[in-house]
Order: sequence, then structure tokens, then C-alpha cells
Amino acid sequence: MLLSNFFLPILKENPKEAEIASHILMLRSGMIQQSSSGIYSWLPLGKIILDKITAICNTEMINAGSNEILMPTLQSAELWKESGRYEDYGKEMLRIVDRNQRDLLYGPTNEELVTEIFRTHIKSYKELPLILFHSQWKFRDELRPRFGVMRGREFLMKDAYSFDVDYVSSIISYNKMFIAYMQLFKKMGLKAIPMKADTGPIGGDLSHEFIIMAETGESEVYLEKDFINFEGLSGNVNYNDNLQPIVDKYTSFYAATEEKHNHENFTNNDNHIIKARGIEVGHIFHFGQKYSTPMNANVNNDKGKNIPVYMGSYGVGLSRLVGAVIEANHDKSGIIWPKEITPWDYNIINLKSGDDQCDKICSDLYSYLRKNCNTVLYDDTNDRAGAKLAKADLIGLPYQIIVGPNGIKDQVYDLKNRKSGETHKLSYSELLNFFNSKSI
Ligand code: ATP
Ligand code: MG
Repeated sequence: MLLSNFFLPILKENPKEAEIASHILMLRSGMIQQSSSGIYSWLPLGKIILDKITAICNTEMINAGSNEILMPTLQSAELWKESGRYEDYGKEMLRIVDRNQRDLLYGPTNEELVTEIFRTHIKSYKELPLILFHSQWKFRDELRPRFGVMRGREFLMKDAYSFDVDYVSSIISYNKMFIAYMQLFKKMGLKAIPMKADTGPIGGDLSHEFIIMAETGESEVYLEKDFINFEGLSGNVNYNDNLQPIVDKYTSFYAATEEKHNHENFTNNDNHIIKARGIEVGHIFHFGQKYSTPMNANVNNDKGKNIPVYMGSYGVGLSRLVGAVIEANHDKSGIIWPKEITPWDYNIINLKSGDDQCDKICSDLYSYLRKNCNTVLYDDTNDRAGAKLAKADLIGLPYQIIVGPNGIKDQVYDLKNRKSGETHKLSYSELLNFFNSKSI
């Protein structure tokens, strides 16, 4: 990508309305623009990252055996009246009346709608288990939208729903999603910690939140110190294996959100349990027959008995994750993208665009990288050298290749590792060797 062709509206000053690093950096690097309170437009750089995060999440959902669908953002109120949640949901739900005076709502979640899809088509245990998921915009009229995309009113969520014939098999589905979550956060370069959680208005008997540790996080959590360094799963998982022992390993550590924490134990000075803050990036619920009973989503079991299906729901905050990744990966100069989701691997910076020799080296490097399947952004604009270097640090690609008149004279160019800050002077052929040896 040539930067001269890329819409990257950088802000020079820190925006006043932003309090935390991820919000400041997303605005400064032109990833998002606020449209109204808690509602954002995603500009090209933001959209690339949001798509990468969504793709990693969707791929793991499919690996775990679930099916992708797409439900609408607008839902009929009728289904919510059936489940009993239309009144319960309160002011967070955006209610809309259409021209025929029919009650609609902008979906804050999709348990009802997916149950309607299920009950239309599935009648027998023989068609189970089934897990359906989609990635779709949600709307919740939050009391205090803040921290940019972290707590928006309109936000992108991946939500999955499992359907099983009995309790035992519904726990197998829950475990699959638990492990899929550990995998997908890891594939985004993040360390998420599963914690016992409250089920809140969704209801149910079993629930975990997935938390990224960060001082700016809104969630207060309590956990065993050793859990933070626990490596957990390595490599791919066979989702048909018995996953219970792996889930048990994670849940053997003490980790709970504030609502679930047993405060009595903590005040006894249990010094291996710490109080910390984090960002909730995922939340899974096992709620059994809570929705299937009032909504008559029944199946015949193997004894010919017609019973309400067992369900669970599983949410990942895709747009919140963009902020969470930045909270976990930045310094005072800007973002430091982890290799897993970086928009491009290399950033070529031409310190003197218009100079024949600088232009030649840069465009040769650009062609080489493109031909060899490395993703690359080339700053070919006419900005000042200082501004270009600051911009490169701000948008945080893993490697910068800096070409200027001094380098041309000595025939060496700077290769900077954005994360460590280390810079090496390499000749043209040494650079090519580096590209070939480095798997980013
Ligand atoms: P929170 O406690 O942060 O309000 P929640 O428990 O109400 O979230 P869930 O219903 O569990 O949210 O939704 C699943 C996921 O969607 C959450 O884990 C979170 O990552 C994301 N999410 C929820 N609300 C928002 C929001 N207002 N803005 C951005 N992401 C959100
Ligand atoms: Mg939650």
C-alpha cells in the first residue's frame, strides 16, 4: 500500500475527550471517528484491524464446529415478549416503531431470534448438537458510553449459541467454546484469563468472563498470582477430544470477577490472591432451558420425550478488542501491533521523497516485499522527515525501513524494530536476507 493512496487522517494533538491510551491512539492514528456519543465510524486503518480480529474469531468458531449465520440488527419485539425480556431489558434497549406501528428493537443480543430460527427447523435430538454464530452490530443504550470503542453504544460482537439435548452434552458445547475462546485470543496475540462470572440478565448457572489484564480496564477482578503466568494450551486443539480436563486445568486456579468473588476469604489476607483490573473481551453463559421453555423450542430425545432444548450463549466483543489490543500493546510514541494482527509487516519510510536515489531504493524495496508476499506500507508522501518518523511510530508496524540521503551515501539503511526500538544499519542485500529469513 502506498501511503499517498491511503486515507489516514492523523491528529497531531491528543484529543481532549479521550482519557485512556487506546482511545487517544485510535483517534490520533485515524482509526475511528465519533459520530455521536458511543457511536463510531471506522476509518480504513481501524476497519483493517477490526476485520482481522473478526476473521481470527470466526475462523476459530468454525474450527470448533460451529456454523456462521447472519441475523439482522433490527428485531421484532414479539419474540422478546415471548421470552419475557422485553420489559426486563429496560432503558438499554433501543425501541423503534415502524410505519405500521409495529414494535421493533435494535438487537442488544440475539438469544430470542436464534431460538426462533432453531425451533422452526430442528425437532429431533438426531440433529444435535448445533452451534450457530454470527458477527453483527449490537446496540445497547449504555448509561455511560466511554473510553471510545471499549464501551460504545453501537458495537460489534461475535455471538454464538449452542443447542443440545441434555445437560451433559450442553456442557460439552460450553467446554468447546471455552477452549475456542482461549485459542482465538491467543491467535490475536493476547493473553486472556478466564474468570468465574455472574450471569446477570442473561441468566443461567455457569458463566465465565475472559479478561485482559489492564490497569485501565473497567472490571475489578481477583485472581491467583500464578494464573497470570500460566501458559495453558499450546498448539491446535482437536475439538472432538474430551476437553473437560483442559477446562479443569484453567478453572483450578482461583479467578473471579468482582460480583463472584468471595470477599470474606480475601480479607483474611490471602496473599497469593491479588486484586487487579482488566478488560472483559468475552463472556460465555450456560443457561440450559431458560429461553427454550417459554419459547417452546422443544426437541424429541432418544426416548421419544419432547423436552425444551439446552442452550448456552457465547459473546466476544470484537470492536472492544481493537481497543484492548492497543491497551496491551503501546508505548508513549504510539501503537505497537502484535505480529498476529498488524495491518502490514513493514513500513518503508522515504525521508526525502522526490530525491531520485531515495525514491529508487524505496520503490525497489517496495516491489521486492510485495513480490515476496510480505505486506508493506510505503510512506511516499512529501511530509517532513520528522513527521514521517513520528507517524510510523504512531501507527506501529513491526518493522520500519528508513531510507534517507545519509544512508544513500553510505549505502546502508536503517531497519528499526518498533517494539524494542533497536535499529540496525543494513546494506540492500542484507535487508533482502532479513526479509527472507524473518517469518513475521
Ligand atoms: P459489560 O459488563 O462490559 O457491560 P456485558 O457483560 O454486558 O459487558 P455481554 O452481554 O457479556 O456484555 O457481551 C459480550 C461481550 O460484548 C462482552 O464480553 C464485551 O466484550 C462486549 N461488550 C459488551 N458491551 C459492550 C459495549 N457497550 N461496548 C463494547 N463492547 C461491549
Ligand atoms: Mg459480560
